[in-house]
Amino acid sequence: MRLWVRAAAVRRRVVCLWLLLLVFALVGLALSDLFNQDRDHGHPNPNPGPPRRPLQRIPSAPDLEIIVNSWDPALELGVDVAALESLQEDQLLFVPSTQGTKSPLQGKGSYKVILPGVSKETAAPVPRTHSETGNEVQLQLRDKYTELELSAVQKFGLNEVISERISLHRRLPDVRHPGCLGEQYSESLPSSSVIICFHDEAWSKLLRTMHSVLDTAPKQYLQEVLLVDDLSTQGHLKSVLSEYVSHLDRVRLIRSTKRLGVGGCRSLGAARAAGEVLVFMDSHCECQKGWLEPLLERVAQDRTRVVSPIMDVIDWQTFQYNATQWPVRGVFDWRLDFHWESNLQLKPKDADSAVLPLKSPVLGGGVVAIDRHFYHSVGGYDPGMLLWGGEQIELSIRVWSCGGSMEVVPCSRVAHLDHHHLPYRFPDQEILQRNKIRIADTWMDAYRKIFYRRDTLAHFIRQSESPNITERLHLKRSLGCRNFHWYLTTVYPQLYIPQDRPALSGELYNVGMGSCADLPRVQGLQGAVMNVAPCSGTGSQHCDLNSDSEVRWGPMGALCLDREGERVVMSPCPKQRPTSSGHQWKFIKLSGQLVHQQSQLCMEAVKEVEIPQSSTGGLFLRTCSHHPRQQWHFEQLVAPKSAR
Ligand code: UDP
Ligand code: MN
Repeated sequence: MRLWVRAAAVRRRVVCLWLLLLVFALVGLALSDLFNQDRDHGHPNPNPGPPRRPLQRIPSAPDLEIIVNSWDPALELGVDVAALESLQEDQLLFVPSTQGTKSPLQGKGSYKVILPGVSKETAAPVPRTHSETGNEVQLQLRDKYTELELSAVQKFGLNEVISERISLHRRLPDVRHPGCLGEQYSESLPSSSVIICFHDEAWSKLLRTMHSVLDTAPKQYLQEVLLVDDLSTQGHLKSVLSEYVSHLDRVRLIRSTKRLGVGGCRSLGAARAAGEVLVFMDSHCECQKGWLEPLLERVAQDRTRVVSPIMDVIDWQTFQYNATQWPVRGVFDWRLDFHWESNLQLKPKDADSAVLPLKSPVLGGGVVAIDRHFYHSVGGYDPGMLLWGGEQIELSIRVWSCGGSMEVVPCSRVAHLDHHHLPYRFPDQEILQRNKIRIADTWMDAYRKIFYRRDTLAHFIRQSESPNITERLHLKRSLGCRNFHWYLTTVYPQLYIPQDRPALSGELYNVGMGSCADLPRVQGLQGAVMNVAPCSGTGSQHCDLNSDSEVRWGPMGALCLDREGERVVMSPCPKQRPTSSGHQWKFIKLSGQLVHQQSQLCMEAVKEVEIPQSSTGGLFLRTCSHHPRQQWHFEQLVAPKSAR
């Protein structure tokens, strides 16, 4: 009997246990269903990319999406763990949507956030010594700005105090060409996702960017604005921003829990975007009326076309809007730095040239629109690119080489704020070089030597480590991309191709002075006066005596050694091959003399004190002699064979 009772008790316990397990299983199933539903609500993702953890989404706030993102470990850089913790804390601060009801945040003045460390009382003392960011600001602007402003400039690279006084909805003056105003666009333009990545952006600047998109983009073409927080650390970009965004229609906020950098952050946005066309936009832009339609039209006509508006300029001190003159296009130099190139001569026969798009070898990253499918098929942003720099040049060369094209569309204008200085700190100083190495080794074939000679830091890094570009090379092959020679001759034939002959190129070293020929930086380019300075060893003083007898200077190779009276100067090289111009020089290897052909005088380095009424030394043309200050040699820092 006792045995029977005990057995019954055991059976009861087992049944209870089973029941408990069943309940657990049911709860588990319900939860996973909830998550899956959540995902299904999201837009179909054509390129799922690496696996991600599920979203945490607030059911009542469809516009606010916090994504806990696990990303390619290759992108993991010395991430600030403290920042990560605070981000997670922020993720708990969900604010239910009150969309439709007027929010106190949308009232007059529209926002008020106390920026840590920027208020008068708490403004950090201004250091006089060198700091990584904004050090020059301190010295130049000390008298001009209040401590509050200085602190803001140092923190954001712009005068946020002034920015806060300007409406978030300010209208820019319409500077479009009259020919643009009558343009008719197709009625069925594709939809767009505007992706705005930000890392520690100033509050008013970020909000003005977002509002200017919402205020100017026609609703039928604007699927969404995706704000992507690239692990910002500043307080105002946390819960306050989450709350602000939760009140807005069409705006979604995604937060990354790893610092991804410009390209990685944009890839994250692209993977989550639903619009047919992706518009990547910097977090400090203001859109001109009618900016979106001309871009969408060009992409709709040809899905392999990647387009940019004319980028106007917002002054970082005054927030004044400055229109950029047309025509303008994007280029890069042999140090792989990007420039907008103006003063282009358009052929007079192009009566419509003021409204016609212009092909561009590269596009800046400020605003760039690209078909979503084409973006993914051409390989997105290179995931191997670190934090900042070069990603846009890489994308541009790839787009052109692998079947697409790029252009600037003049009837579209967006203003971009050019920072005073980059407001980020990088875990190491060579990030930009490493990104450039990826570009050189992936895309430039043998031409990469020209780059390595002009950026010796990149050269030495490359000697000690190889970039992991296997996948990108595979992509290049599978897309059937053309080589760099094709790119240079077809897309960017205006770029001078240096000859870099041994013993006739490199730093121009003066035996008498023990220094190198140098072009001081802060000068206009017309007739800039040459000087001697300590040899930099970085490639910045590299020049190239070519077979046309020109001494070409600078990363573009567009400046030529010239004379103005007896002074040696740099001036723009002649467009045609020189015949007997003042630009021609002869180098006599035996004596080390550099002879100006036209005058038959020799280039001599002159010390400061020797020039009457002048505080500087410089390079002069003098009667040829064997004085050591007339002895030069071209020092190649990177031997031809070792240039990668
Ligand atoms: N950015 C980012 N992560 C970074 C660095 C930059 O998301 O690690 C964002 C930045 O906030 C900006 C955009 O990427 O919206 C481009 O950066 P930036 O404006 O500094 O580049 P620049 O215009 O100077 O080339
Ligand atoms: Mn920018």
